Amino acid sequence: MKPANATFAELGTTVFEVMSKLAVDHEAINLGQGFPDTDGPEDVRRVAADAAIRGPNQYPRMMGIDELRQAVAAHEKRFYGLDIDWQSEVLVTSGATEALADCLLGLIEPGDEVVLIEPLYDSYLPIVRRAGGIPRLVRVTPPDWKLDAKALADAFCENTKLVLLNNPLNPAAKVFSSEELQLIADLAIRHDAYAVCDEVYEHLVFDGRPHQPLMTFPGMRERCLKIGSAGKTFSLTGWKVGYITAAAQLLAPVAKTHQFITFTTPPNLQRAVAFGLAKDDAYYRGLAAGMEAKRDRLAGGLAALGFKVMHSAGTYFITVDVRPLGLGNDDVEVCRKLTTEAGVAAIPVSAFYAADAPRHFLRFCFCKSDEVLDEALRRLSAFLHG
Ligand code: PMP
Ligand code: GLN
Repeated sequence: MKPANATFAELGTTVFEVMSKLAVDHEAINLGQGFPDTDGPEDVRRVAADAAIRGPNQYPRMMGIDELRQAVAAHEKRFYGLDIDWQSEVLVTSGATEALADCLLGLIEPGDEVVLIEPLYDSYLPIVRRAGGIPRLVRVTPPDWKLDAKALADAFCENTKLVLLNNPLNPAAKVFSSEELQLIADLAIRHDAYAVCDEVYEHLVFDGRPHQPLMTFPGMRERCLKIGSAGKTFSLTGWKVGYITAAAQLLAPVAKTHQFITFTTPPNLQRAVAFGLAKDDAYYRGLAAGMEAKRDRLAGGLAALGFKVMHSAGTYFITVDVRPLGLGNDDVEVCRKLTTEAGVAAIPVSAFYAADAPRHFLRFCFCKSDEVLDEALRRLSAFLHG
């Protein structure tokens, strides 16, 4: 048999699928894959249900239904003061995962260099490579995950086509500071590079900090493609509705990619997300505050058990250092053991590195009910301390 495409054929199954299956097989509490255990707002779901009954249920416009594109533009104005033309500067996608693939496949030419910050979400590298891009990785290191200015500057050169920024950063739960964002913006401008900004956790920033899209920095409006996800903003991860906001010229090749990847996204879900994006500020404040309380509950519990807990400034996640517990030096093995023996699944952070990964960090997801978090802590306590 002739070989399949090597980039994909040689990949393992994504760690999220692997750990969720292991959790189900062993009836473990799943604090691995990032998804809330309660569905998002009932009124949003009701709009989707009604729209499916009422119709139309045929192909919507390729760029997304007008209502949703208008709602995305209004959202960018309301939260960030950005003036976005909904007709030419917003594209609806089937999740942020598709949005990322559209941006990378639509912009990268073989041989282009792409700057990425490690640890990084697992879909990035395979798509960059499939597009023919050459990854240039810059690490942020725990416990403070600070971005090193020199390392970042060294990763850029005249061949840099784009930088891919995930802010807030999964799995580090880091929120980039204004200074770090300015640094990225300066380098993108100096090297005439684009910035693909995966900001799916834009409404999950804690401790009263505002989310700062890179697009709002001077000179970046024309260079950034800002990606959002209704899955995260409305706790409806299975819906897979995403959106890209970018200058018309930059969005055009990305839309050409989208037309042959999915072409469109279910119309009833688009209607419901348009309705959701218009929710009042109290909804958005409540989402962040509710998650912050869960973060504190899980972080406090894990620290009390002896994990070294790193601060979570945003996202659904907490990362911990397992070394104080003497659980071994292989995060994959530790996660397997915790899932099968303690009955609590987590994600090995090494899955977010291309090579030479640190091996003692685990990622726990806290977007679960208080009872589930408490039961997970009880199980971990019984396993670790008998
Ligand atoms: N980017 C990051 C950083 C994520 O954590 C996720 C996880 N869902 C995605 C993109 C994908 O989002 P979606 O489910 O909307 O495709
Ligand atoms: N973004 C989710 C996470 O980090 C997983 C999404 C997926 O399973 N593809 O857990």
